[in-house]
Amino acid sequence: MKNDHNILDKWQRPLRDLRISVTDKCNFRCTYCMPAEIFGPDYPFLQRVELLSFEELERLTKIFVNSLGVKKIRITGGEPLMRKNLPELIEKINRIDGVEDIAMTTNGSLLPKYANDLKEAGLRRVSVSLDSLSDEVFGKINGKGVTVQTVLDGIDAAAKAGLKVKINMVVKRGMNDKDVVPMAKYFREQGHILRFIEYMDVGNSNKWKLDDVYPKKQILEDIHAVMPLEPIAPNYTGETANRFQYIGSNQEIGVISSVSDAFCSTCNRARLSADGKLYTCLFASKGHDLREPVRSSLNDQELGSVIENIWIGRKDRYSEERSSNSTNQNKVEMSRIGG
Ligand code: SAM
Ligand code: SF4
Ligand code: SF4
Repeated sequence: MKNDHNILDKWQRPLRDLRISVTDKCNFRCTYCMPAEIFGPDYPFLQRVELLSFEELERLTKIFVNSLGVKKIRITGGEPLMRKNLPELIEKINRIDGVEDIAMTTNGSLLPKYANDLKEAGLRRVSVSLDSLSDEVFGKINGKGVTVQTVLDGIDAAAKAGLKVKINMVVKRGMNDKDVVPMAKYFREQGHILRFIEYMDVGNSNKWKLDDVYPKKQILEDIHAVMPLEPIAPNYTGETANRFQYIGSNQEIGVISSVSDAFCSTCNRARLSADGKLYTCLFASKGHDLREPVRSSLNDQELGSVIENIWIGRKDRYSEERSSNSTNQNKVEMSRIGG
């Protein structure tokens, strides 16, 4: 079925990209996302019945794609590979006519176990998060002492399975800004696209301060001093990363500068949390519940109207307004909606 729906929000932005969080649990405790002192043994993670089932996710995805204009799906979490039988969900989504791309963001630790099944189920791409090549630095960041090699093994397994691989590195001043150049060199040699992500004020747990942000400009200057870069054009409107390549090669890097250079004006993403709340912005404090409607007697058309009305009313542009509203202390946690 041709997917040419053009439902626009209050700032004339269409809905194109749906990020589905399949679990709020994770086997890491990254300090900037799920700090161990807050996400401890007594943390009230979601119960099984609270999660949307694969059938419910499949039904909602079909509506998003067939009636609302979504073309790209990204599976995330928490750690998405902690959700039992995840390849089954990928298979269901891959069968939906009109889905142009299915990707997943993962910490990579479970890829050696699942990469082949994921590829076979129809997954095309993975973004693997890795913030340093030093075990000392990385072990502290992930809060569990997980080694760099664990993630590199995951990256290898994904590439061997035939998945396209990108690497995500969150850069935080004083945490891993010294790792920017070593990471750039290493992944240039490996031939994988590395994307630097500015440390963001998502959730309320990570005690974010503007001073902790290591901005795009600085990241690019550090790399350019050693390996000169030139900008390249975006692949499509609404792309989150600014793209660059090393001069004299076609090896690409990207920087996602949600703090220093916001891109809300082209933001076409909606996020579905594992318990079925629809968030129209990464920094929203409130989601719109879709679990109750999906479990009610509403038919697909009626459900589609519920979602359409949410999108039509959307006014979010948090990053562009950040300076004036950074005191919002009630934002949804990243581990609930998955970045
Ligand atoms: N667990 C998976 C992973 O780490 O890739 C998927 C979920 S994670 C929440 C998605 C992405 O958000 C990761 O690349 C992670 O590094 C990034 N992230 C988490 N907290 C962040 C923050 N405060 N600022 C910027 N990026 C963040
Ligand atoms: Fe887990 Fe990913 Fe958050 Fe790290 S960034 S704690 S791996 S969900
Ligand atoms: Fe989109 Fe909200 Fe991020 Fe702006 S701040 S780019 S509206 S998710």
